[in-house]
Amino acid sequence: MKISRRIENLKPYLFVEINKKIAEKKARGEEIISFAIGDPDIPTPPRIIEKLCEAAHDPANHRYPESEGLPELGQAIAAWYQRRFGVTLDPAKEVLPLIGSKEGIGHIALCFIDPGDIALVPDPAYPVYAIGTQLAGGRPYYLSLRAEHGFLPSLEGIRNDILAKTKLLWINYPNNPTGAVAELDFFNRVVEFARQHNILVCHDGPYSEVAFDGYQPVSLMQAEGAREIGVEFHSLSKSYNMTGWRIGMVVGNAAAVGALRTLKSNLDSGIPQAIQYMAIEALSGPQDAISEHNNTYQRRRDLIVEVLNNIGLEVAPPRASLYVWAKVPEGYNSVDFTADLLDQVGVAVTPGVGYGRSGEGYVRLSLTIPDAALVKGLSRLSGWRNTRRLTPKR
Ligand SMILES: *Cc1c(COP(=O)(O)O)cnc(C)c1O
Repeated sequence: MKISRRIENLKPYLFVEINKKIAEKKARGEEIISFAIGDPDIPTPPRIIEKLCEAAHDPANHRYPESEGLPELGQAIAAWYQRRFGVTLDPAKEVLPLIGSKEGIGHIALCFIDPGDIALVPDPAYPVYAIGTQLAGGRPYYLSLRAEHGFLPSLEGIRNDILAKTKLLWINYPNNPTGAVAELDFFNRVVEFARQHNILVCHDGPYSEVAFDGYQPVSLMQAEGAREIGVEFHSLSKSYNMTGWRIGMVVGNAAAVGALRTLKSNLDSGIPQAIQYMAIEALSGPQDAISEHNNTYQRRRDLIVEVLNNIGLEVAPPRASLYVWAKVPEGYNSVDFTADLLDQVGVAVTPGVGYGRSGEGYVRLSLTIPDAALVKGLSRLSGWRNTRRLTPKR
C-alpha cells in the first residue's frame, strides 16, 4: 500500500508539537487554560435548536437531500444578503449552500486550479486556502500581511510570470488570525485588479457578524462589479455559534458557483435537511443574539488586551473577528513564547508562525474562552514574568 504524494506532501500540522506538550501536562494533572481554540463557547440559540428538533421528527427530512440545498435555504441566504448588505443575489444561480464553508473553500480549488497553476494566498492565513491549492496540484504564492499596511496584502509588484499562471486570489476580512478589517475601497481595488488579470477573487468572510464598538464589516459583494469576478464564502458557524452543525454558503459569480455545484453534486449528497432548516431559522428569525454575543466577546477582548499590554505585549484591540493578535516580547519567537507561557503559567496560546512565515513574532488569543476560564487565565497571564530579557540571548 502506498499513500499518494498529494497526501504525503502535506506538512505535519505545526500545532502537533504544542498539542503534545499540552497533553503531557494534562496527563500529569496540570490544569491548562487555553486561549488557543477558535470555536464559539456559547451554545447555538435555543430557537434554532427548536427548529432542528421539529425538523428531525419529519420523515421528509430523513431522506437524501438535494445536493444544491432546499430552494427555501437559497432564498433565505439571498434575503439575508439583501437585508444585511443591500446586495441582490439570484438564489438559483448565485447562491450555493455548503457543508460548512471549509468544505467549499477546500473544494473550489478543484474547479479552477490545474497542475502548475497558482493561487495568491495571504500569509498568515487560515491554512485551507493553501492546502486546497496544493491538493489540486497547484502552488500557493504568498502575499504577506504586515501591520504597517493594516494586514492588507499588497497587490502591486507581483511578477507578470506569476500573474500569468494565477487563477485565484484568496482574501479574508475580518481576518483570522490578525483580527484586521477591510473597507469597501480595498474590495473595489481587489475587484479592479482581478478583472485586469482575469483572476477569480475568493473572499472568505465568516466573521462579518462578529464585530465590536458598533462597527459593521462590509461584504466583497458590495464592491462594484464583484459578482463578475468574485465569490464570497460565508458560514453560520461564527455568526450563530453553529460550528458543530456544519453549514455555510458561497455566493457571487454564477459560473464559479455553478462549477462548485457541479463538483459537489459528484462528491457529496448535500447538507442534512434538518440542519438546513436550522440555517433558514437562523438567517430569517430575530437577530438579537448576535449583538448579545458580540457584547460578550467585546468585554473579553477588552480584558485580554489590558492584561497583555500590562505584561509588555504590543496589541491593538481588534474591531472584529474572534481573535487578539499580539506581538511577542523582544527576544522571543512565537514558538518560544508559546512554550514559555505554557511552562511558566499553564496558559496555551497559538504561535503565529503556525499560520505562515509572516505570522512569526505574533501569538493569537481567541475570545471563545468561557468567562470562568478567562478570569483564571488572565490572572495567570498577569503573573507572567519575562525572564528572557534578564538573560542575554546567545
Ligand atoms: C472558522 C473559519 C471558517 C469556517 O468555518 P466553517 O465552520 O467550515 O464554516 C472559514 N474561514 C475562516 C478564516 C475561519 O476562521
